[in-house]
Amino acid sequence: MPDGIGHGCNTPCIEVVDDRTGAILVLDAGSGIVGLSPLLTGEPRPVSVLLTHYHWDHLQGLPFFATLYQPGWETTIFSPVLTSHERGWLDTMFKSPFFPVPYEHLPNRPQLQMVRAGELNIGGFEVTALPLNHPGGALAYRVRGAAAVVLDAHFTPKELPQHRGWGHSDWRQCAEFAAANNVGGLWLFHHKPGRSDQELVKIRTDARRIFDATETASEGERLQL
Ligand SMILES: [Zn+2]
Ligand SMILES: [Zn+2]
Repeated sequence: MPDGIGHGCNTPCIEVVDDRTGAILVLDAGSGIVGLSPLLTGEPRPVSVLLTHYHWDHLQGLPFFATLYQPGWETTIFSPVLTSHERGWLDTMFKSPFFPVPYEHLPNRPQLQMVRAGELNIGGFEVTALPLNHPGGALAYRVRGAAAVVLDAHFTPKELPQHRGWGHSDWRQCAEFAAANNVGGLWLFHHKPGRSDQELVKIRTDARRIFDATETASEGERLQL
């Protein structure tokens, strides 16, 4: 989509790298997972993929995740226990007719670990998981020490009423949350498919009237914390 190319059109995936240990934490496996850091082609290191929920836009990149094809890489998928959770989801994703390589034939099969709300250790990262109000359930994650808040700002306040029950919030709710909780910085994320760069500039300007340190997240953007 040419008028959205500035911020990028992939679905959610965030990479967190611990500079001291080199451990990699991947939050959600949307189509953005394909563009993860060049670290994934270097020396093998532990990689943890932590999922918020099972909506398609948060899983669709998983079959194309580089480490599944690189023997020697230790990859663990942390899968939340939710009301919408189907035990066989991982197997199904790789099955015909959805994908040509069945899960059991992957060159580097990931481990699967279930997670629930609470204090978690995810591959060396201290994470707090909190249940969200979202159809079928979902978990929000706080990675200890992180000063940035990345929130789902899928809709505008005007679009939200027609999409009740979709599980997304609007930018105004995000900005108000950031202002009320005195966070370091807010990144509006998970933009609605078809959102143009121009619309995002307006959203950012409006959101900054509520919370000054607001940015709209773009693909490939890096934050040093
Ligand atoms: Zn969802
Ligand atoms: Zn989503």
